[in-house]
Order: sequence, then C-alpha cells, then structure tokens
Amino acid sequence: MKPSPPLELVTDPATVLHQRARPVRTFDQSLRRLVDEMYIRCEEWNGVGLAGPQVGLNLQLAVIVYEDRKFVICNPERLSSSGEVDAIEGCLSLPGRAGKVRRFERVTVRYRNVHGRGVVRSFEGWLARIVQHESDHLQGMLCPERLAPGAIFQEVMDDEEEAGAK
Ligand code: ZN
Repeated sequence: MKPSPPLELVTDPATVLHQRARPVRTFDQSLRRLVDEMYIRCEEWNGVGLAGPQVGLNLQLAVIVYEDRKFVICNPERLSSSGEVDAIEGCLSLPGRAGKVRRFERVTVRYRNVHGRGVVRSFEGWLARIVQHESDHLQGMLCPERLAPGAIFQEVMDDEEEAGAK
C-alpha cells in the first residue's frame, strides 16, 4: 500500500467546508489509520476537535480531543437537546477570528465509533459544545452561522483565541 500524504488543514473559503459530507460506510483498517492521523493533527494544531471536511475529506467523521478524552464520532445524529448557552467559539478553519455562538447545553447524540458500532451518549458543558461544533462541520455548517443574537464573528487578539472550540 502506498503511504498517504500528510493531512493538511483546509481553511475557508473552501467548498468542502460548506457541503454535507457523505456518511462513513466502511469501518476498516484504513479508517482507523486515518483517525489516528487526525488525532495527531488535531493536537499539533491545538484543536479540541477536527472534522473530516477540515482536512479535505467529504466524510462524516470527526475526532475530539478534550482534557482526558479522545474519541471519534462517525455519522452523528442528535437525538435530543436541552438548555442553551452562549460562549466564544473559534474554528481551525477560520483562523484568527471568534464570536459568541449559541449552543444547546446538553445533547444526546447517536453515532458510530471507529469500529462501526452504534453508540448513544449524552454530553454537557464544553464537551457538548465541541460535539455540536464538529457535527455541524459534517453538515457543511460553520460556527459563524450559529452566532448568538447580536453577536459578530470578528478578529481576535492572540490571547483571546485560546477560548474557542475548533
Ligand atoms: Zn471548526
């Protein structure tokens, strides 16, 4: 098998960031290899999440690396949600900018793991925000499309940039 080239970050404007990605259908070794590389890139780029379209892949797949957790969601579907909360968010694909984004406080999501097994899991707090941000990427939606009322997505100083989900 020929080695695949290293994954590169796609920044906006790019069509792949604005289209609904295809569901993952094949859960094989090459998917696991891809996921492993996405974990590495996500950490290297200081993200807390990285979605397929952000590395140019039209696939409903995202890795999440947050605190002590590291997992992958494939083909996520939101089953239920409650509450809402506004917080500053940024995105690796929209470098140097951030804005206040409105998200559900808690979400229950059904997805497939890297082995293709169905998982139903509830998230809250910042992890719920990351899962929503990444799931949006898989539907071709970016966080400036979810701004809180009156909020603007704008350039940030370096020290403010830390806050964002990616
Ligand atoms: Zn993002």
